[in-house]
Amino acid sequence: MLDAGFPGPRLESSLHKLGFSAPAIDAVLITHEHSDHCIGLASLLRQNPQLKVFANRETARRIQSTLKLRPNWQLFETGETFDFRGVHITSIPIPHDAADPVGFAIDCPPSDGQPSKRITWLTDLGHATEVVRYHCAQADILVLESNYDDEMLDLSKRPLHLKQRIRGKHGHLSNHDACQLLLSLREWRTSELFLGHLSKECNRTLLVDEMMNQIRQHKNDLRVTVVDPLEDDPVSTW
Ligand SMILES: [Zn+2]
Ligand SMILES: [Zn+2]
Repeated sequence: MLDAGFPGPRLESSLHKLGFSAPAIDAVLITHEHSDHCIGLASLLRQNPQLKVFANRETARRIQSTLKLRPNWQLFETGETFDFRGVHITSIPIPHDAADPVGFAIDCPPSDGQPSKRITWLTDLGHATEVVRYHCAQADILVLESNYDDEMLDLSKRPLHLKQRIRGKHGHLSNHDACQLLLSLREWRTSELFLGHLSKECNRTLLVDEMMNQIRQHKNDLRVTVVDPLEDDPVSTW
């Protein structure tokens, strides 16, 4: 599993819908210590005390201080590639206001006649660095943050300091930022794009989709899915 950001009951019902059960999860990759990425770890650990949790040292240290149980930590250095069950996983440094936040590129080997595929996961980033841009272009399946609509954030009742944090270089990508990032890639091989980590208060799937029309004009074979945080079954595809 990649991140565990739902509380136990929600996590379990989502896993159940996908045909999995919590005790069957044997490893979790963690991007950073914010609770919307690791709140479900405690419940997973209770059900599987052998759970392997992959994280860098600083992230592990911060999360451990909030946990009663100790997972089987699998520490990595940010930027390095490691293996789990024959899958190569590369951690990607990202600019965000956490201790040592990362995204992941996961190289899945060929199976059932399907060629190998790289899945790249990039959420919670304040801006697109060169490394981020490189990894976007290399992804077959890309999960990218499209966190907020500028106007909705402006009009929201959030305090000014929080608005500034979200917009900052170490905050989140807006719909416009995500779109500009994709438009700036000269060549990219992505066939499937998931736009996620939408703010419940300051974004709507329709706004993200509207913005992405610009991308479709350049890349009409791209399959785009916007992940809706307001739905129980949180995916809408256009
Ligand atoms: Zn975060
Ligand atoms: Zn987050």
